[in-house]
Amino acid sequence: MPRRIVIIGGGAIGSATALFLRLADSASEVVVVERDPTYAKASSALSASSIRQQFSSSLNIRLSQFGIEFLRRAPRALSVGDDYPALGLVEGGYLYLATPRSLAALAANHRVQQEAAADVVWLSPAELRARLPWIATADLGGAVLGISGEGWFDGYALMRGMRRKAQALGATTLHAEVASLTLQGGRVVAAVTRSGTRLAGDVFVNAAGPWARAVAAMAGIDLPVHARRRTVFVLSCPVAIPRCPLVIDPSGVWFRPDGETGKRFLCGASPAPGEADPDDLPLEPDLAQFEERLWPALAQRVPAFAALKLESAWAGYYEMNTFDQNGIVGAHPDLPNLLFANGFSGHGIQHSPAIGRALAELITAGAYRSIDVSALGFERVLSNTPFVERNVI
Ligand SMILES: Cc1cc2nc3c(=O)[nH]c(=O)nc-3n(C[C@H](O)[C@H](O)[C@H](O)COP(=O)(O)OP(=O)(O)OC[C@H]3O[C@@H](n4cnc5c(N)ncnc54)[C@H](O)[C@@H]3O)c2cc1C
Repeated sequence: MPRRIVIIGGGAIGSATALFLRLADSASEVVVVERDPTYAKASSALSASSIRQQFSSSLNIRLSQFGIEFLRRAPRALSVGDDYPALGLVEGGYLYLATPRSLAALAANHRVQQEAAADVVWLSPAELRARLPWIATADLGGAVLGISGEGWFDGYALMRGMRRKAQALGATTLHAEVASLTLQGGRVVAAVTRSGTRLAGDVFVNAAGPWARAVAAMAGIDLPVHARRRTVFVLSCPVAIPRCPLVIDPSGVWFRPDGETGKRFLCGASPAPGEADPDDLPLEPDLAQFEERLWPALAQRVPAFAALKLESAWAGYYEMNTFDQNGIVGAHPDLPNLLFANGFSGHGIQHSPAIGRALAELITAGAYRSIDVSALGFERVLSNTPFVERNVI
């Protein structure tokens, strides 16, 4: 039966959902409501846009497996007329480093990844040195390197490509802010915009990224998703670092190349254990973090990084699920026609194609068909049974 689906938020998650809905069911009407068409604060525009298979849960690996498959074929799959979006996918790999103390956790994750057929290899410190002689290994016990299926891409171009393809397939985008939801008989019946327009619908999707908690509150639902600032630093190094993957240092600092010179890098870090991580900080880069924490860790790992220059920096919000750092996907048991796709805690852009497809299946077929994401359902929050992802960066 043709229906009207209203998606609140037109970032990567909302755009992917609109795209897969139009692909699955051309009879239903899909309306994406986006309050800021410039995406100035949207996570999808401020992301480090990297994709990995190195998760600790097989479900997240499966979501990334579809993610990389989608990214590889995206220029064709998202083409509109003669225009093929360039996503700049580089499969440069992730390199997870472990000290002797963190080796057991790395090994446990590696087993899960092998069972899920992720293309990753275990390296001893000597093997790592032989592959990447620029890295200091004295304090390391081992490492896991992604051989294929991991790397980085242009996340903004992915979001734009999905949005444009969804529009070409008939989805409409409305420039408006949803200010309230109207409930009747245990269902959401309309989203009301700030200017008072009433958007009636059969199904509503909360794709509001870091602002998803406010949208959930409009329906009286407490969603544990918080806007947590993360800074990305752009660095240059006078010496080229050849074949550099995205490196996750045991200190929690990450870095990866940007562009093809081997001399330009992005880097960042989540707060150190015990460090405060307040909600809704202004989106100004935390420059002190670079001097105090990142640079010392970078120079210790790559001696050539002692000569790094900080070129620029930006900040965006992780839509952090403070309950268990994993996405919350699907309906709340008390409200069957408001679907959530929130709280991806730093891994949402790589999973956006798989989550969009999953929601489209749930809406059109009534069940997940390709990848069963019910483990990410709201029920686990209500029953206090976390679905923990140990590899959160
Ligand atoms: C610094 C940084 C680095 C990251 N690195 C990675 C990475 O390497 N790999 C990875 O996979 N992920 C990464 N992420 C996370 C990833 O970017 C996000 O998970 C993803 O972009 C979330 O997409 P979204 O569509 O849910 O949210 P958004 O892109 O934020 O989109 C939500 C949209 O909803 C709109 N909106 C909100 N409220 C309303 C309303 N009431 N009415 C109408 N519109 C509304 C907003 O304007 C916004 O455009 C990173 C994020 C940051 C900030």
